[in-house]
Amino acid sequence: MIRAPRGTFDVLPADAARRRILEAHAERILGAAGYGRIETPTFEATELFARGVGEATDIVRKEMYTFDDGAGRSLTLRPEGTAPVCRAYIEHGMHKLPQPVKLWYLSSFFRAEAPQKGRYRQFWQVGAEAIGSAAPETDAEVIVLLADLLDAVGARGVRLRLSSLGTPETRTDYREELKQYLHAHEDRLSEDVRERIDQNPLRAFDATDRGTREVMRDAPVLLDRLEDGDAAHFFQVRELLDIAGVAVEIDPALVRGLDYYTRTVFEFESEVLGAQSGVGGGGRYDALIEQLDGPPTPACGFAAGVERMLLAAEEPAASAEQVDLFVALAKPDGASLGFELSRAARRAGLSAQLELAGRSLKGQLKHADRIGARYVAIVSDNGSVSLRDMSSGQQEELDAADVVRAVQRS
Ligand code: AMP
Repeated sequence: MIRAPRGTFDVLPADAARRRILEAHAERILGAAGYGRIETPTFEATELFARGVGEATDIVRKEMYTFDDGAGRSLTLRPEGTAPVCRAYIEHGMHKLPQPVKLWYLSSFFRAEAPQKGRYRQFWQVGAEAIGSAAPETDAEVIVLLADLLDAVGARGVRLRLSSLGTPETRTDYREELKQYLHAHEDRLSEDVRERIDQNPLRAFDATDRGTREVMRDAPVLLDRLEDGDAAHFFQVRELLDIAGVAVEIDPALVRGLDYYTRTVFEFESEVLGAQSGVGGGGRYDALIEQLDGPPTPACGFAAGVERMLLAAEEPAASAEQVDLFVALAKPDGASLGFELSRAARRAGLSAQLELAGRSLKGQLKHADRIGARYVAIVSDNGSVSLRDMSSGQQEELDAADVVRAVQRS
């Protein structure tokens, strides 16, 4: 048997219903805030992600599905949505439109990660990008919209962590300062942290061993090193979230796995998710559009995992789709009349299914009951139809032409 590739999954009809509801919430919440939907190609030039996401990130270094298109060009299945949306913004000259340009997407993404619950190699994200505004209100709006979406979806145990990364220069200076601090306290750090001081000093904040934790209590914090403009921006974002009643935890150690962030970064987590607890996150990326050869353009956005949001939400009670009419065949000869009847019912706006499996009449009635049909039209070969009300069991003889109206009236 050929199975779906490791880390991928099929969306079966029962799962599709929940995903459709999530999509409708996203459409409503983001649409009401002026976001228009965008769909970019599933694959892009590899260079877009190398330059847009960052050569040094895990995503670009080891998680991309990259292939040659047969004509010597390197293409990559999109691992994230921000760089493609920015590419589209530049390519279509959207900087000439009134700013900010607000776009949202619901698309699939691909990362060659080790699969586990909540972590797949093909997954879906809802994302929103507000491009062309540096105002702190934009950051706060993006965060509030994701909070509203998580709320509408019913995600449980959600908390929001917030921080600011300042500018790339501030960050570089700060990394040096942190490295020096860690080197000065090397003897008390765990081996793991000690070995990675120069590659990834920020990881020391996540360490759980006592020695490292003690050292990190007095470590310099990036938030204390922000330039005045960045600090004021962060203060305003916090104040707006406070006014909106969105609870935040300021986490000076919050780092995100993509290089393009400046100033605000945030992450929503759900405590019901276990190891893969991130449901969605994002931040400001004021340098990205320019980095991709566009005009200098401030922007911010979020991306949230569809599967994680659904895992974080309570399973709804199974609700069967309604079937108004099941067309049963007393004899196979009635098939063409039955076919016509089911089509007429659907054209009149009813949901209608026709017997397609050659069951006995008894078997057909049992099947109609199982799928929750309200009425069954039993078509006999002489052209007459008896319409059975499945809740009362009552049955009446009708002309075929009158069946649809009878069901509609009920
Ligand atoms: P990121 O683009 O890494 O910031 O991810 C944003 C959100 O997408 C995360 O919070 C997750 O909800 C979701 N996500 C990221 N990677 C995966 C994955 N491999 N499988 C499922 N969901 C993912």
